[in-house]
Amino acid sequence: MIGVLALQGDYSKHLEILEKLKISSCEIRYPHQLNEINGLIIPGGESTTMTDLIERNDLHNNIITFSNKNPILGTCAGLIMMSRSVNDTRVKSLNILDIEVDRNAYGRQVNSFRDELSVSISGKVENISATFIRAPKINRMGRDIEIISSYNNEPVAIKQGIHVGLAFHPELDGITLFHEYTFVKQFNEKSHAA
Ligand code: GLN
Repeated sequence: MIGVLALQGDYSKHLEILEKLKISSCEIRYPHQLNEINGLIIPGGESTTMTDLIERNDLHNNIITFSNKNPILGTCAGLIMMSRSVNDTRVKSLNILDIEVDRNAYGRQVNSFRDELSVSISGKVENISATFIRAPKINRMGRDIEIISSYNNEPVAIKQGIHVGLAFHPELDGITLFHEYTFVKQFNEKSHAA
């Protein structure tokens, strides 16, 4: 069972992707619900608002604890929330990925764009068309970060341990590969390797 943090943002689009993959899913709003899931998605939205709602619902420390054992996939604002630090003091990030990010680094809503990306995941390279909406830039990364995809030589999809963070929105284009990788494939690969 995979939960989608449903406080704000485009969480319903993630539920559609999970449905497409036939993965059972539910909306997460309160800490006790984390006990019922095996993975979490932090969607795109507005990281300042998401910060307030995470605080209000007492989810900050609970999501951090959850991340010690369970995979988290963050897209756009979700990536910002998973970072170690953000160039905006209003955002209280969760420090799940060892990265520093700049919010809105690609400009305003009107500067949103779609472009081709090449993604290296599960030992394969796949090309996708990705949508960036007021996307963050990753400007610093720790040693444990693995780059899955870059755009103009800047990392836009990364992985650390079991967690995955994306600066763009696969859920808006019906792209299932990141959800499938984060919640299914990486664990199958591990059990095969063991
Ligand atoms: N700019 C938003 C933020 O900083 C993220 C945008 C998005 O999720 N599409 O929170």
